[in-house]
Amino acid sequence: MSPLTKKIVSLVIPFYNEAVGVEDFFVVVNQALVASYDSYDFEFVCVNDGSSDETLVKLREQAQLYPQIVIVDLSRNFGKEAALTAGIDIACGDAIIPIDSDLQDPPELIVDMLKAWEEGYEVVLAKRSDRRTDSFLKRSTALWFYRTHNAVSKPSIPENVGDFRLMDRCVITALQQMPEQQRFMKGLFAWVGFKTTTIEYSRQQRHAGDSKFSGWKLWNFAIEGITSFSIAPLKLWTYIGGLGALVAMFYALYIVFSTLILGVEVPGYASLLVTIIFFGSLQLLSIGILGEYIGRIYMEAKRRPIYIVREVFRNKED
Ligand code: UDP
Ligand code: MG
Repeated sequence: MSPLTKKIVSLVIPFYNEAVGVEDFFVVVNQALVASYDSYDFEFVCVNDGSSDETLVKLREQAQLYPQIVIVDLSRNFGKEAALTAGIDIACGDAIIPIDSDLQDPPELIVDMLKAWEEGYEVVLAKRSDRRTDSFLKRSTALWFYRTHNAVSKPSIPENVGDFRLMDRCVITALQQMPEQQRFMKGLFAWVGFKTTTIEYSRQQRHAGDSKFSGWKLWNFAIEGITSFSIAPLKLWTYIGGLGALVAMFYALYIVFSTLILGVEVPGYASLLVTIIFFGSLQLLSIGILGEYIGRIYMEAKRRPIYIVREVFRNKED
């Protein structure tokens, strides 16, 4: 294949305090891809998501060794979703592959992804066939999340598929038409559709450093996913309210008749209190859910940029 017709493949790699693993990452990626260098031009778009350690310095060092590296330095930590968006916006590949920088997504799989892409698939998903490296708690909460999300949202997101996937340029063009600020990438990726196939892999241990996602962060991420793609939690209250009113109506009838027949009954303090507390809490809960959505409308309404780039550092002369 002549160099002129070579397709460009961009890896988009978010880095947040990953200094200890930077060097190994590129060694492993280079090893996995070297055989494909004849057929494709690779570009490694590394997004430094406001790291407070030596990540940027290490990335710059690596850029001396690997001319494929492009560094996008964000002005602060914007979170993985924003970092991915920044990388995807700057990447110029015919295919784009978001991949974690901790080697939990095996780069060897990229070769298989490219094969499937050449067969005509526009999206090649990498599905974790086994999550043994994740804790029991993470596995079960992930399962719970996928079930709940897919029960209430359309389109459903494929279970155990992370951001690691290949996307054709046509998918990226579609993705860039979605201007929302709160970006649940897995959901956005699924929303655009396109011809999709799946490759299975087994999830590795983190190569170095620690996970950046605590339980609380994951919980918020799950809420973000559901509220971004479904209004079922809002609608639910119409039915709960309706049901409550129906029950109250029958109960009122019962009280009227029993009062007429049996006379006035004085005790009832406990049941009254329980009912008030129960419905009071239900109302607070529903207001809380309303608040979740209003908060999101407020954040969206500001139309702030999703990320701010301090500097883009390119090695290669185009
Ligand atoms: N990451 C990021 N910004 C953040 C948090 C994480 O760019 O605010 C990157 C991180 O450097 C890694 C990827 O997102 O490349 C996945 O993070 P992590 O491995 O901590 O998540 P986990 O695999 O535990 O779900
Ligand atoms: Mg990880």
